Amino acid sequence: EEHRKAEIMERVKEKGVRFIRLQFTDVLGILKNVAIPVSQLEKALDGELMFDGSSIAGFVGIEESDMYLVPDPDTFVVFPWRPAVGAVARLICDVYTKDRKPFVGCPRYNLKRVLKEAEMMGYTMYVGPEVEFFLFLLDDQGRPTVRTHDEATYFDLAPTDRGEDARRDMVMTLEDMGFEVEASHHEVAPGQHEIDFKYDDALKIADAIMTFKLVVHSIAQRHGLHASFMPKPIYGRNGSGMHTHQSLARNGQNVFFDPARPDGLSDTARYYIGGILKHARAFSAVTNPTVNSYKRLVPGFEAPVYMAWSETNRSCLIRVPAKRGSSTRIEVRNPDPACNPYLALAVMLKAGLDGVMNRISPPEPVNQNIYHMSEEERASLGVESLPANLAEALEELKMNQVIRDAMGEHIYEQFMRVKLDEWNRYQRFVHPWELDEYLALF
Ligand code: GLN
Ligand code: MG
Ligand code: MG
Ligand code: MG
Repeated sequence: EEHRKAEIMERVKEKGVRFIRLQFTDVLGILKNVAIPVSQLEKALDGELMFDGSSIAGFVGIEESDMYLVPDPDTFVVFPWRPAVGAVARLICDVYTKDRKPFVGCPRYNLKRVLKEAEMMGYTMYVGPEVEFFLFLLDDQGRPTVRTHDEATYFDLAPTDRGEDARRDMVMTLEDMGFEVEASHHEVAPGQHEIDFKYDDALKIADAIMTFKLVVHSIAQRHGLHASFMPKPIYGRNGSGMHTHQSLARNGQNVFFDPARPDGLSDTARYYIGGILKHARAFSAVTNPTVNSYKRLVPGFEAPVYMAWSETNRSCLIRVPAKRGSSTRIEVRNPDPACNPYLALAVMLKAGLDGVMNRISPPEPVNQNIYHMSEEERASLGVESLPANLAEALEELKMNQVIRDAMGEHIYEQFMRVKLDEWNRYQRFVHPWELDEYLALF
């Protein structure tokens, strides 16, 4: 500990860092931070920094608002896009209560708790996310619009792809911060992009997704654009997903791989798939947490609607990429980038582990395009649908103790309260679509 502290103080001196951002994530997945000048860093590293938890979404009431931020020294990194003179660095923190206990409402701590459960079973979860986003033009007042800055599509190049400069800048910034970027490209919709980085253990990836979004937002802003991770910003176009590749390892060995099987998939992989399929309707409330999320999960836009698994088919909830050996994994395709990654990974892991523990066999894989099947064909294959809207997903979550356990009771209660309110406000609002459709007609 003392050694880690000295190491950070050393790097701060060497890089001329003047400010440290102490970061954490609220229940809704929004990154929060407080900046301290370097003079306060020792105190912060000792976990002496207090803040008012009552103003953070889903944390605590005003009666018990004093909380501590306890930095994770492994997360120290300098922000490359801030000035080199008087540089800015960040530390990701866990939230502790005033009695100096880990706070059960802290999503990062909650993920650690669920990862511990996996560890007790001998498993480490590895995750590789594919985060998609849009780049939008700003209006005269500098506010985001839904006008895209290009009309390009999948894998296009300049001059149609006008995102290349911003994307290049994002990739270089991520690399400077220690990301191993594997690919970046224009996505299917106009103004839509994807940047993929290398898989790692679940906690590192949840942190990395938060950092990724901050980088993409910040660099887009420097290019006069607004980056949005909203799941379905434009009707009739592809939405933005966060496909989540996942696998389990034991003693460093991928346990989803079984060379003795014709398809190379172990029983553990199969049961994990069984667990994901069993709980997907409930965990969607977490992996697809907004009203808008469900407008992405409709047929025809490469987003999943039906709950099945396949080795090829991208209309399924779960695809098993062809790679085997240490790369054997499943790709869960419903999550979207509006989710809180700490909660999303906790609920998916818990669903998968429930499958492994209870030996839940999945149905046969479905290798035809499910979008093209009739309701009867789907029913005969046992293929159900994901929730049609947020209300349906919240109802499923309410009835699912496994997924509630993955969130912990505190986070579950707070999440439910905020999300029911969100649904009710949406449900009662009179939307422009209704006026267009009905006002003149009736
Ligand atoms: N944008 C699609 C989705 O919503 C995915 C497209 C792709 O990466 N093939 O999930
Ligand atoms: Mg991809
Ligand atoms: Mg993609
Ligand atoms: Mg994918």
